[in-house]
Parts: sequence; structure tokens; C-alpha cells
Amino acid sequence: MHDREARIRCYAELNDYLPPHRRATPFPYGFEGSPRVEEVVEALGIPDTAIDLILVNGQSVCFGYRLRPGDRVSVYPVFESFDVSSVARLRGEPLRRLRFVLDVHFGRLARLLRMLGFDALWRNDYADRDLLAIAGREQRILLTRDRALLNEAGLVRAYCVRSRKAVEQVAEVVARFDLVSRIRPFSRCMVCNAELARSAKAEVADRLRPGTLRDHDEFHACAGCGRVYWKGSHYRAMRTLVETLTRTANPPGAGG
Ligand SMILES: [Zn+2]
Repeated sequence: MHDREARIRCYAELNDYLPPHRRATPFPYGFEGSPRVEEVVEALGIPDTAIDLILVNGQSVCFGYRLRPGDRVSVYPVFESFDVSSVARLRGEPLRRLRFVLDVHFGRLARLLRMLGFDALWRNDYADRDLLAIAGREQRILLTRDRALLNEAGLVRAYCVRSRKAVEQVAEVVARFDLVSRIRPFSRCMVCNAELARSAKAEVADRLRPGTLRDHDEFHACAGCGRVYWKGSHYRAMRTLVETLTRTANPPGAGG
């Protein structure tokens, strides 16, 4: 028996290193003495190169931190996640941005990710070597279902999307990377992935039909391709998707 206990939670793909009962949930960790947190994650089977941030009781610590009884330890990979972003807000400074590049089969998924505000680079003519180069150079997470590509990925960060339908795929990616709190509708162009900016009616009037102008007052224009977005039928579809994703992430009765 260990006479001391801390609680540990691992985030996003770090859970792949853990047995199922320890994934995505805080679990008790018994220890003796005051091991360094580096030794703790090694004992859990997580390579230190996969870790970007460790919080103990809400404070960022280095690998040399020595564990104390009652510590609450959160271990993060390089991806920004729900809990990291809330910490970042407390600090008043953003951490990293989470960005994706998608293989040629994921055009619909790319549009849905953009609709939710996520940076999702996609083109229907990217070759495998392009995808790997972009993922490496721009530190994007490669989304693919191509096993050969995943095997070649090497040091590139990649995730194998398992779902078949686009709506299920976006739910899978949102759940996988804890993205629900980071959904920002009307922030990114579904067509070209550039960011949108709130625009005055007069600025976009020449690009809209009279009926649209008459019925709407809030417009967002794409800085990349010039498309204009407003809260039409597309917006209702998006609201439905966001509600579904939020419900899936926080099922009733699931608690904290
Ligand atoms: Zn655009």
C-alpha cells in the first residue's frame, strides 16, 4: 500500500497511453516519498516528449516538481484543450492555437469544422507529401483515415478519424480534442478557411440580394474570398449542430 495519494487527469491523446479506466477522468495515484512529476508520468507510461503542460492544483509546474499528497495533477499534450483554455484566460494570455489540415477525403468535415470556427486547411488536390509538409511546417494536426499516411506521419501530429459521416466526424473531432468550449460560430469562412469580420450593412450591400438586406442586420464578411455570412438557414443548421455537440459532450446527469 502507498501511504500517499494524488489525483491525476490526462487530456486528449495522452489518454491513449493509459488503461481504459484511467482515461479522460481523474484517477487516484498512490505514491511514497515525494517523486518528481517526471517520474510519475514515466511510471504511467507517457513519454515526456508527448507532454506540453502539467498543472498541479491549477499552477503550471516543471518536470522537476515533487508530488505532494492531495495534489491535483492535469497533464496536457501540446494541443490546447478546454481546460487549458480556461487556465489561459485566468492568466490573461492565450496558449497555442489548435489547427488542422485534412486529407482530400474530408471536404465536408473541413466545412463543418470551419463552421464551428476551427482552422481547418483542406484542398481536394493535396498530395500526401503536401499534407505531411503542411502539418509539420504549420504545426497542424493531420486528420486522416489513411493508414499508410498515418504510418508515414512520423513526428507530425495526426489523428485517425474513424466515423464515416461528416456530422459524426465533426462530433468525434470535437470530443477528441475537448473543443466544445472553443466553438466560435461566425468566425471563419466555410469555403476558404479565412477569418470573418463583422461588417456593416453598407459595406456588404452590393454583394447581397434585396431580400437578404431587408431581413437581416448582422453580417460577417470573409477577409479571404469576400463571401458574406448572415443568420439565414445555414445559421439554423449550425445552431442544431452546436446544440447536438454540446449535449453529447455534457449529457444530462453526467455532472462536473
Ligand atoms: Zn472565404
